[in-house]
Amino acid sequence: MKIVVVGSGVIGPTPAIRLQEEGHEVQIFSKNLPEQTVSAVAGAIWMPFHVEPMREVNRWSRISYKKFEVLAADETSGVTMVEFLTLTASRKLPEWLDAMPPGRFRPARPEELPSGYNFGLVAQVPMVETPVYLPFLQKKFRENNGKLVVHVVQNLNKMAAKADETINCTGLAAGKLTGDSEVFPVRGQILKVENLSGLRYLSDDEGPNALAYIFPRRDCTILGGTAQVNNDDESPSEVDSAEILSRCTNLLPVLSKAVIKTIAVGLRPGRTTIRLEREPFTNIIHNYGHGGAGYTVSWGCAEEVVRLVNEKS
Ligand SMILES: Cc1cc2nc3c(=O)[nH]c(=O)nc-3n(C[C@H](O)[C@H](O)[C@H](O)COP(=O)(O)OP(=O)(O)OC[C@H]3O[C@@H](n4cnc5c(N)ncnc54)[C@H](O)[C@@H]3O)c2cc1C
Repeated sequence: MKIVVVGSGVIGPTPAIRLQEEGHEVQIFSKNLPEQTVSAVAGAIWMPFHVEPMREVNRWSRISYKKFEVLAADETSGVTMVEFLTLTASRKLPEWLDAMPPGRFRPARPEELPSGYNFGLVAQVPMVETPVYLPFLQKKFRENNGKLVVHVVQNLNKMAAKADETINCTGLAAGKLTGDSEVFPVRGQILKVENLSGLRYLSDDEGPNALAYIFPRRDCTILGGTAQVNNDDESPSEVDSAEILSRCTNLLPVLSKAVIKTIAVGLRPGRTTIRLEREPFTNIIHNYGHGGAGYTVSWGCAEEVVRLVNEKS
């Protein structure tokens, strides 16, 4: 089949590659190049965050985990498996643990916890370095004879008339494009700081320094963050930067020496639940609204897109 994918963040190219592997001819149409998307701003660690429905999210996250684990063996992918300490408010196990393979997490030892914290989990999770991974996906797509066309799609139905199937992966813009009022922005600001020794992968989503996360990469260390619902301001905020730095330094005091290289803002595509379904009686499949977990669920959602395409053919 001739299939069009709209969008070149992480959510578009992933099913595009899976559909190519199934023998389909795939073209991507996108307003922005991959490095200009929200996906390029992300952390991006494997961790369901600000995303629903949890049952499906866990199923899709489990599939992605396995795929990322395979990709981590290829050093050109930008994916590595890392030890991630998430600080928790109580001993209660988080729901996302259901998506982890058994034996990949343990309670944090007291000496691993920052002062003021009593509980934490240490999990082995995939970490995606976006400046490497997004070009890696594009290379795979091109090697399978895929073509990326920079083009703004104004009308999905008109685009769909030119292909056997059209997959709508337009993130936050899907709200306007489809008239879906359930889509909303969740503003995320991060700092990229110069690498320091003594850093580790760490986050506090629910404790006194929420929301704080520290993700060391090869090119920089990402410090986050914010998750401001219904805020669509794409300019960096000085107040946010100061608070991010302060919260992260509370967790890892060595960050008092951090030197900021860049400040970035991305609007996560929030939605009441991910929309991953065929629009009834059409050749359009929607795949958007992945909130703060686009990377985490990407390969699982791609499998669902393949299933929806195959169901029809
Ligand atoms: C600060 C921050 C940290 C994050 N951390 C993580 C994390 O640790 N782990 C994780 O899993 N996720 C994380 N996320 C969430 C993740 O980045 C998103 O869920 C993901 O990027 C969504 O991908 P997408 O492809 O749907 O959207 P986008 O990346 O926004 O891509 C949308 C694409 O659609 C195109 N498009 C839009 N409108 C049109 C149109 N009319 N015509 C043609 N093309 C169009 C755009 O050009 C773009 O190519 C984070 C996000 C932020 C902002």
